[in-house]
Amino acid sequence: MQLTPLSVEAFRLALKSKGLKATTQRVAVHQAMMALGHACADQVSEWIEDKTNASVSTASVYNILSQMALLGIYSHRYSPDSKMYFDVNTGNHVHLYDAESGTFTDLDDPELVAMVENHIIHKRYRGYKTEGVEIKIIARPTQRKK
Ligand SMILES: [Zn+2]
Repeated sequence: MQLTPLSVEAFRLALKSKGLKATTQRVAVHQAMMALGHACADQVSEWIEDKTNASVSTASVYNILSQMALLGIYSHRYSPDSKMYFDVNTGNHVHLYDAESGTFTDLDDPELVAMVENHIIHKRYRGYKTEGVEIKIIARPTQRKK
């Protein structure tokens, strides 16, 4: 669990510790994720195409993102229309989801997280053991951005 994204150097070390090579493609995906924060494979692909000389297909980008999520380097996030996003922050934090642009923003609100967790801790869900809570506030901008 971490709240700040891994630097490229820390990312290389994290891969090495899992027995993986820091390939040009993996590093390009991580650079895109650091710049974007939350992104789906298409957005990461576009960023790499625009900003780097690396050539990575969207399918490879998706595979790398999924692999990093399995390793706990990124987290999965789902938009309300069930599109899969990835998040460089794996710690417990609140999201504000902009339903108009389809973008996630991190909210630093430990009080809200603690409030919900304290409520959940006293609940029993028959046949289940809770593992965590994700809070996503879905909103639309009050004014159109230029
Ligand atoms: Zn986030």
